[in-house]
Amino acid sequence: MTKVFLRKNRKKRLEQGHPWVYQTEIERIEGDPQPGDAVEIVNHAGHFLAKGAINPNSQIAVRVLTYNRDETIDQSFFERRIREAWVFRQRMLEDTNACRVIYGEADFLPGVVVDKFADVLVIQILSLAMEVRRNELIQALVNVIRPRGIYERSDVPVRELEGLEQRTGLVWGEAPREVEIVENGLRYIVDIVEGQKTGYFFDQRENRAAIGPLMTGWGADRGITLQPTGELDEQGKVVYKPVDKTGKIIKNPFWDGAEVLECFSHIGSFTLNACKYGAKKVTCLDISEHAIETAKRNVTLNGFLHRVDFVVANAFDYLREQVRRGSHWDVVILDPPAFAKTKAAVPGACRGYKDINLNGMKLVRDGGFLVTASCSFHMKPELFREVIQDAALDAKKILRLVHWSGAGKDHPEILGVEEGHYLKFAIFEVRSRA
Ligand code: SAH
Repeated sequence: MTKVFLRKNRKKRLEQGHPWVYQTEIERIEGDPQPGDAVEIVNHAGHFLAKGAINPNSQIAVRVLTYNRDETIDQSFFERRIREAWVFRQRMLEDTNACRVIYGEADFLPGVVVDKFADVLVIQILSLAMEVRRNELIQALVNVIRPRGIYERSDVPVRELEGLEQRTGLVWGEAPREVEIVENGLRYIVDIVEGQKTGYFFDQRENRAAIGPLMTGWGADRGITLQPTGELDEQGKVVYKPVDKTGKIIKNPFWDGAEVLECFSHIGSFTLNACKYGAKKVTCLDISEHAIETAKRNVTLNGFLHRVDFVVANAFDYLREQVRRGSHWDVVILDPPAFAKTKAAVPGACRGYKDINLNGMKLVRDGGFLVTASCSFHMKPELFREVIQDAALDAKKILRLVHWSGAGKDHPEILGVEEGHYLKFAIFEVRSRA
């Protein structure tokens, strides 16, 4: 087998868990491998480090497939990897009706993402290493997960860095364009063909549930309190009813719920969770008409339509305009797309994050909450917090951090693989300083 010798004076990233070898780290290659071939990665002295797949046409020259010298990269290799990943999800998640089953490098399958939407799998192949082994990969998925169909969504520009063309379409069995899934007990219609990325973002599952406690407890702020009515229920207990300042009984069962603004809603996931946990009214906004159309159907599917307003707009403009009008919400949620796709884009991204967070926190009623996220890998956690703090300074707010996290359990992170730590999610309580 071809041997790839690494330079002596390189950073020991591979030994620290990072499964990529860059062209610049290679000393020499012994053998004449074809693109995609399995090779042995050895250190400068020839000691075995790992087995990987080579791509001479990519900056990422070799991607690690196994640390076991005796492991052959065949269909049973894929079946073992997929089974492990699947067992892990079944252990970690309450419900595996819908989840990320394979998260690339973090599941030791470099450059493959597999999302499960009920009985349909959506696959993304991002590396040549996996592209040349796609038949084994797909057959292994069929054998282990037994789906009804597998649909490919390899319509991502990073494939070009590997010398691969974008591609989409059915690769196995049958798959309807729209699939219904359940997450956190909520039903969603996911468009696997036209939806963004694979159709849905699973990384915020736990974070969506984390907004639960923010959704109730707001009635008192509006002057509504529970008062004894003088009536007794069947068990002989006094019946309490919500009453406003003028003594009028409030009929709305969500009288104690939050008023919520969700920007960058995609298909409405935070909105659905807000409603589930008792929000009184939610404004659900996205720039994409298709996303809001789907969000509306999802809200209807769950019986929340009377509590949600939909807006198709640019969040930057909408937030600014609402500040100008003096609008307020109890909870403002911001989950924008990655503003910094490259390192060079970070300064511009900081301005973008500052803008939406500044206006977002201005729209929060005193004592309410700002729920904010960044999925830009290049936006480091410390920098993200600095930007938020900077916004708080300008907005004359004191922020109290009450929740800080990253992606959910079906997106595990390998220590040493920086690229895996992309999602930042925070909940801040917002108080006025002025
Ligand atoms: N919160 C969602 C994911 C959001 S992805 C979830 O949990 O699933 C980012 C969303 O922002 C996309 O749906 C995209 O259409 C939308 N978007 C991008 N730019 C926007 C803008 N300027 N204003 C409003 N929405 C925008």
